[in-house]
Amino acid sequence: MYRMLLIGGITLAITTGSATADPETTAKARALIDAHVKAIRPLEIIAGKAWWDANTTGDKAAFQKKEDAQNRLDAALANAATFAELKAAKDAKIDDKLVSRQIDLLYLMYLEKQVDPALLKKMTAKANAVEAKFNVYRAKVNGQELADSKVRELLKSSTDSNLRKTVWEASKGVGKDVEADLKELVKLRNQAATQLGFKNFHAMMLFINEQEGVELVKLFDELDDLTREPYAKAKAEIDEKLAANAGVKVADLMPWHYHDSFFQESPAVFDVDLDQPFKTADILELCRKFYAGIDLPIDDVIARSDLYEKKGKSPHAFCTDIDREAGVRVLANITATEYWASTMLHELGHAVYSSKNIPQSVPYVLRGEAHILTTEGVAMQFQKFSKSRAWLEKMGVKVENPAAFDATSTKVLRNELLIFSRWCQVMLRFEKAMYENPDQDLNKLWWDYVEKYQLLKRPVGRSEPDYASKIHICSAPVYYHNYMMGQLFASQVHHTIAKELYDGAAPSSVNYIGDKRVGGFMKAKIFEPARTLSWRDLMKFATGAELSAKAFALDFQAK
Ligand SMILES: [Zn+2]
Repeated sequence: MYRMLLIGGITLAITTGSATADPETTAKARALIDAHVKAIRPLEIIAGKAWWDANTTGDKAAFQKKEDAQNRLDAALANAATFAELKAAKDAKIDDKLVSRQIDLLYLMYLEKQVDPALLKKMTAKANAVEAKFNVYRAKVNGQELADSKVRELLKSSTDSNLRKTVWEASKGVGKDVEADLKELVKLRNQAATQLGFKNFHAMMLFINEQEGVELVKLFDELDDLTREPYAKAKAEIDEKLAANAGVKVADLMPWHYHDSFFQESPAVFDVDLDQPFKTADILELCRKFYAGIDLPIDDVIARSDLYEKKGKSPHAFCTDIDREAGVRVLANITATEYWASTMLHELGHAVYSSKNIPQSVPYVLRGEAHILTTEGVAMQFQKFSKSRAWLEKMGVKVENPAAFDATSTKVLRNELLIFSRWCQVMLRFEKAMYENPDQDLNKLWWDYVEKYQLLKRPVGRSEPDYASKIHICSAPVYYHNYMMGQLFASQVHHTIAKELYDGAAPSSVNYIGDKRVGGFMKAKIFEPARTLSWRDLMKFATGAELSAKAFALDFQAK
């Protein structure tokens, strides 16, 4: 049976099964949703506002306020009686699609918090212990403590292989400090997952985020096949430069010869300064003009935002949609660099994909991005333009040495994406295997994957908990793969736009400038459906195909 569902001007054809829930059940489900929103919405807004205040000022009281609101939220979501009612509503197969989608999402939200409180307390304590050790850890070299920035600087600039090795090893030392706590934490997380009926914590987290392990590995296998060769080629070119800089043979390059301790970023080995065009350009104005040109104006976002460095403020960047009533804003610390141009394009990409461009008629529970991977994807789709000479020139920014800028920026972008994709392979596969069997030799497992996917050499005889020195393994578990899927999403959507709006032009030649149809496409195909569609259904709705690595891979073959 087909039913037409009207959301803010777009019409979705939805297939529904035969009606199974009686009107009374549907009414009960609606009441359940209403009660949830009534209780949760004010807390979410308080937490959002406090989080914003805390980060823009560094005010301790604001951090406390955010934590208090978060605790009250968690307590509400832990309510077992509400969870039971949600489960019953979910099993009743309600045929009003909007109601059933909300029930499904609420069920997942509450599911995560249904862990036995005593166990949850233990998990939180362990996680805090690990995080505290990360916060105080400093790499020690020759009896001297090094700040993280100093470690990065030495790995970037030192030509002394022995010093590099010492610094790299010291940077990994935190792994040893947290290893025992982390191993316990992994087991506690698995225990919680088993209590809730899952095989392990990894499987549970994927389920809560509407993902699935076998499907994910299949996607990452495809990505592996398509990136293996271009990655090896790009790495060979980088290796040659790194070897020359350190005065060693390529065959003797070790993990400490790269510019960050995990080789997750592209080493800065190419000559042209990508910052040059941004020394005189007004980055904010550039973004304002660009987004207005594609019919996604952001003047109101800018007015609410906090964009330049100041005392006490968070040094990072993020975008937050505080009330799902178009209160979206960005925190940033803009300086005249390519990094901040790209970061601003990224954060404003999140900003346009928010309640700002989602009709208020979409219910509160569904009024947000379809998935973390889809909003990261949109942000990444726009972020890339700061490295495009053609985009910069068309936007009126002067590029002094166009040919050299072109050659370097193309290479840097390609290298960044390839290096990141191979690093994500390690993260996904390691985490999955770790939660499946935490008692195996994790030190060995980590390096097996690093060798296989990143093509780095394992230091002879090394058996250290190097995996534990990556903070995300501890603090942001089962999350990293979404960044990679965001990149795949970005490429696939961009290719669809090139095909549908630009007559199949080469995607690398399409830069959206001044084209209002781009905003129209993004709104109709991606923003407005919001969370009424799962990320899988959104992908098919927007691009006509399932999420795959094909478009992403094509971006490297063109060059
Ligand atoms: Zn982002």
